[in-house]
Amino acid sequence: MKTAEQYWNPILETLPREQLQKLQLRKFQNVLKWAYENSKFYHKLYSDAGIEPGDIRTFDDIRKVPKVEKSMLRGIQGREPYPYGDILCVPLEQVTEYHQTSGTTGQPVFQADTWQDWEWCAESWAYILYAQGYRNHDRVFLPFGYHTAIAFWQAHYASEKIGCEVISGGVLNTEARILKMQELRATAMMATPTYVLGMADVAKRKLGIDPAKDLQIKKITVAGEPGGSIPATKKRMEEAWGAKVYDHIGATEIGAWSFECTYQSGLHVNDALFIVEIEDPDTGELITEPGRKGKMVITAFDRIAQPCIRFDSKDIIGWSPDECECGRTFRLIKGGVLGRADDITKVKGVLLAPTSIEEVVRSIPELGDEYEVLVTKKGDIDNITLKVELIPGQESNIDLVKTKLVDQLSLKTNLGYNIEFHKYNTLPRYDVKSKRFKDLRHKE
Ligand SMILES: [Zn+2]
Repeated sequence: MKTAEQYWNPILETLPREQLQKLQLRKFQNVLKWAYENSKFYHKLYSDAGIEPGDIRTFDDIRKVPKVEKSMLRGIQGREPYPYGDILCVPLEQVTEYHQTSGTTGQPVFQADTWQDWEWCAESWAYILYAQGYRNHDRVFLPFGYHTAIAFWQAHYASEKIGCEVISGGVLNTEARILKMQELRATAMMATPTYVLGMADVAKRKLGIDPAKDLQIKKITVAGEPGGSIPATKKRMEEAWGAKVYDHIGATEIGAWSFECTYQSGLHVNDALFIVEIEDPDTGELITEPGRKGKMVITAFDRIAQPCIRFDSKDIIGWSPDECECGRTFRLIKGGVLGRADDITKVKGVLLAPTSIEEVVRSIPELGDEYEVLVTKKGDIDNITLKVELIPGQESNIDLVKTKLVDQLSLKTNLGYNIEFHKYNTLPRYDVKSKRFKDLRHKE
């Protein structure tokens, strides 16, 4: 039975779609007006396009508002008010939080937040954690130093807001973090999929600890990489830890816009705090039907220092045909972020999403968690090399594994690969975000 206790905000999370859309339109109008009146950057952007806030009267009008891209944010930062530039909507004195994007694709983008914004950030994460079953009896372990990255700071504050007890494992190394979790009987953890798998490996190999039996972690929230929505990777994490793994996607300049609930049917978009549009990357046409993929354009309604309005995220997503049984009216996307419009690269003329390679590698039990993909070019011909590791003891199965890999990869990606087997534990390991896909074609 559905009860109010299962939702962080029982009213907004179950609001009928029609009312939710009305709320979204009103909130969009508010943030647009705020940015137009308070940010020189947005004022110029909209004036140049001949748009005034009063022009946006219907849901469809939202699509007339110019989009913002990351390159535009990079272009203005470093100027006054330093370092954010004239996108800022509040006096610099009101800014209380500095964060930046991880910079995996170029110069990081700076993000300013006021204290009000920061409370909103914690609120948006509280939806996520509450939907994943976090309650005030949980002891949450965060096995990172969060530094200038935003997600785990938000997760930390949101855990406290819900009433959980929070342990920050920042300065410890991996072994010490595992021992701390064991000592304190931590019940929940948050990390990147790469680190969740890496920790389990270290626990077993170096400490003789089996996380599924010797630790009390019952739920793990993952973020920062697609793994939480790749079934084979999720299965590996859940088995290694004897815990439920829930995905979440957010971004520094956007906010925490989506989350998986305990029913694990896909990722809910937080429709109360954001509006997500999916559009065809070539034609710009709005996609509303399930199953068709496009790139995400997103607006955060309540962030005031550095608003995010129709941000062209380049993330490729698609609406789910399924409904979640949790009772939320928040829409679902299927498969998480399927790639980025930038890095769904064409190899041999075929579109290749790195997530499909991960799904294949991680679904083969004889292979270790790590892999690496190199795309190179000889003359006019693209070559893909996939490096994998066999789990110790599986050496005699090498031919069988190779056949499985080649067949599955050809089925899922329509491409041929050179497969290289490497000794277990010799491919690079990553602590936070992995760089397993390397396109070297333009560097030769
Ligand atoms: Zn749900």
